[in-house]
Amino acid sequence: MIQLSHKAYTLLKKHPFRIASGIRTSTPAVLVRLKYEGVEGFGEASMPPLYGESIASATAFLSKIDLSAFNDPLCTEDILSYINDVVPGNPAVKAAIDIALHDLTGKLLNIPIHQYFGLSARSLPTSKTIGIDRPEIIRKKVNEASKYKYLKVKLGGDNDHAIIEAIRKETDKPLYIDVNQGWKDRNEALEKILWLKEKGAIFIEQPMSKNAFSDMEWLASKSPLPIVGDEGIQRLPDIITAKNFYHGVNIKLMKSTGLREAFIMAMTARKAGLKVLLGCMSETSCAIAAASQLGTLADWIDLDGNLGITNNPFKGHMLKNGLIIQNKLPGIGLKTPQWNKIITNE
Ligand code: MG
Repeated sequence: MIQLSHKAYTLLKKHPFRIASGIRTSTPAVLVRLKYEGVEGFGEASMPPLYGESIASATAFLSKIDLSAFNDPLCTEDILSYINDVVPGNPAVKAAIDIALHDLTGKLLNIPIHQYFGLSARSLPTSKTIGIDRPEIIRKKVNEASKYKYLKVKLGGDNDHAIIEAIRKETDKPLYIDVNQGWKDRNEALEKILWLKEKGAIFIEQPMSKNAFSDMEWLASKSPLPIVGDEGIQRLPDIITAKNFYHGVNIKLMKSTGLREAFIMAMTARKAGLKVLLGCMSETSCAIAAASQLGTLADWIDLDGNLGITNNPFKGHMLKNGLIIQNKLPGIGLKTPQWNKIITNE
């Protein structure tokens, strides 16, 4: 029998984090354990409030789950189809179960999950995210991120030019730009993209509202840099229509309901000629390690969510000189934690 346990666990941020839509100092999360014949798999739901899930909604969802009909945890498709259909929505808590189930599967088969998906292991350069801030703080953060080959820069507030100028005083590293739907006028957006290309940007993520369909279509046809959808891309059906508005997609486990659909999304996107960005929320190294398992499917990697929190309860996921080093541990690549010692801090 597969046993399900869970704990509320609020992620505490090292620094307040500002993007176009607001500022946060913590992120509600729920940790999940699946146990089968003494083997444990771990998962995580990270739930930034703007996506609508919470510890209360995740706990309510988990209380509806009954895995007693499933005798074999390797029947992943059956189990995850059941989880998907229990209640609509709830992608992050569904991801927590999906991640734990894959971790358990890898441990039962004694293989890392990238191997389970037919993927190789490789060192992966992740970008380091710089939130919206005053120029002097931006310059400090750029210097703190000296190990990273790429910076992911949040724009879309009222000081886009000052932020880029501050960065360019410190470094000429390539930049990933994330506007978080912050630009409101398509002509102004195109002007900024032309300027950012001159400044060494690689791509522009979600420049305008996910609902500004005609503006996004216009912008994608004119932009000299790839436009990547994030808020506009949640699950597999969004990949099918993505080509009208974007050149690439940001796939995150907390949106996709976990590894299984993220894998299918990344494969579908690649076959459709879309670029793949693998992203994250503020997360512990549990969900980050899980997403890293799909790293070789991505053109760009932004898996730094664990670096910004002070209370990460997991070990095993390694980052060296800005590179995610994939280990050979079975499952998602974590050392098995002592579940009973992880203290709920809600
Ligand atoms: Mg984004």
